[in-house]
Amino acid sequence: MSVENIEIDTLIVGAGQAGVAMSEHLSNHGIPHLVLERNRIAEAWRTGRWDSLVANGPAWHDRFPGLKFEDVSPDDFAHKDQVADYFETYARKIDAPIRTGVEVKSVERNVGRPGFTVETSEGMIEALHVVAATGPFQRPIIPSIAPEDGTLTQIHSAQYRNPQQMREGAVLVVGAGSSGVQIADELQRAGKQVYLSVGQHDRPPRAYRNRDFCWWLGVLGLWDAVAMQPGKEHVTIAVSGARGGHTVDFRGLAHRGVTLVGLTKSFKDGVVSFNADLADNLASGDEYYLSLLDAADAYVERNGLDLPLDPEARNIYPEPECVTQPILELDLAKAGVTSIIWATGYAADYSWLKVDTFDAKGKPLHQRGVSAEPGVYFLGLPWQSRRGSSFIWGVWHDAKYVADHIDNRRRYLTYPDAS
Ligand SMILES: Cc1cc2nc3c(=O)[nH]c(=O)nc-3n(C[C@H](O)[C@H](O)[C@H](O)COP(=O)(O)OP(=O)(O)OC[C@H]3O[C@@H](n4cnc5c(N)ncnc54)[C@H](O)[C@@H]3O)c2cc1C
Repeated sequence: MSVENIEIDTLIVGAGQAGVAMSEHLSNHGIPHLVLERNRIAEAWRTGRWDSLVANGPAWHDRFPGLKFEDVSPDDFAHKDQVADYFETYARKIDAPIRTGVEVKSVERNVGRPGFTVETSEGMIEALHVVAATGPFQRPIIPSIAPEDGTLTQIHSAQYRNPQQMREGAVLVVGAGSSGVQIADELQRAGKQVYLSVGQHDRPPRAYRNRDFCWWLGVLGLWDAVAMQPGKEHVTIAVSGARGGHTVDFRGLAHRGVTLVGLTKSFKDGVVSFNADLADNLASGDEYYLSLLDAADAYVERNGLDLPLDPEARNIYPEPECVTQPILELDLAKAGVTSIIWATGYAADYSWLKVDTFDAKGKPLHQRGVSAEPGVYFLGLPWQSRRGSSFIWGVWHDAKYVADHIDNRRRYLTYPDAS
């Protein structure tokens, strides 16, 4: 579909949840806009995740304010396809002007006139404002320590689909955030021998005193944290909505047969070395877990709430052998490891956005999504305005702020000449 020679006030690049939310708020301001999506609406949810993935938050929480999930009860966890369907329905409901199958190739600031020239796979566009809503998880990262070993199958968690896809043999899953821990769990349940490399993590209870942790983070104001705690910038969060939702419990996984190891350090001659930090990493995960229970108890007390006591939540499994006698080196061939899954996160890729708003490492320079290049905006960045920013419900609020900013800017740009 040609978009040749369109002039538009605001161009939104990407029609995931961020692009859809942005469209809603621009429409509320009456701002003419267009959303270009290179694939389909919510493609990341549709095809960019493993088969069994469900949302990490319950359906009452992981949604936009204007629409409930029709086919998922509020306390259940929507399957990824239901999440994708939800955003397609939402886009129809708000009549979002989305063109799918159109890729934005480059955005350049005009010289001597306002706005930006946008090159797309279907023609050129002129836009006064550009919102980069291309997602926080664009380019899978595999760390440079990955061995060059042709006998091993190595994939990123973004390429993992199901246990059947894996070849015979044991699997080393590197990274124990929400992706790594869920994939390790699924593989172990499918009968695989699994080694799970566990770094520093936060581990909230799935639920406590009859409330999901999403609720606790909300009432305790923790979704609103504006920056990661110093020193915790690389700490991942391990949660799961799988099988109806459960607290991620690494020792529980170990008692079921997963072998836990510390942070993966290096590979040499078919041997992988792990840091001697497994017990410490589990302990700091417990510390976070217990501090959340304490904060929840204090909240109940302060507000006189009638929420049932939950003493069992404080039971912690005894240390499994893999923690008391940690494996620091593993000969992969002897251990029968044939595959490695790198659940090591993602980076952004803004190579198409050729404007002056990136630091030396290519990270966006912005304040709550308002970039250093007037007229360019970001949406959906992790911690864009607060902890909730890259999550479904959080991006909707950030989109409102960005739309308000564009609306204000338009008032300045259209100010009539008093003379
Ligand atoms: C495994 C996993 C599980 C997650 N689970 C949850 C969860 O349970 N709850 C929750 O709230 N969040 C969850 N998230 C985080 C987040 O909600 C999702 O990653 C979500 O997809 C981000 O939405 P987005 O719109 O910002 O980006 P995306 O969904 O990635 O959308 C960006 C869109 O931009 C398009 N695009 C990119 N470049 C271009 C271009 N140059 N031209 C045109 N189009 C382009 C892409 O095709 C894509 O459709 C999860 C993330 C991961 C990785």
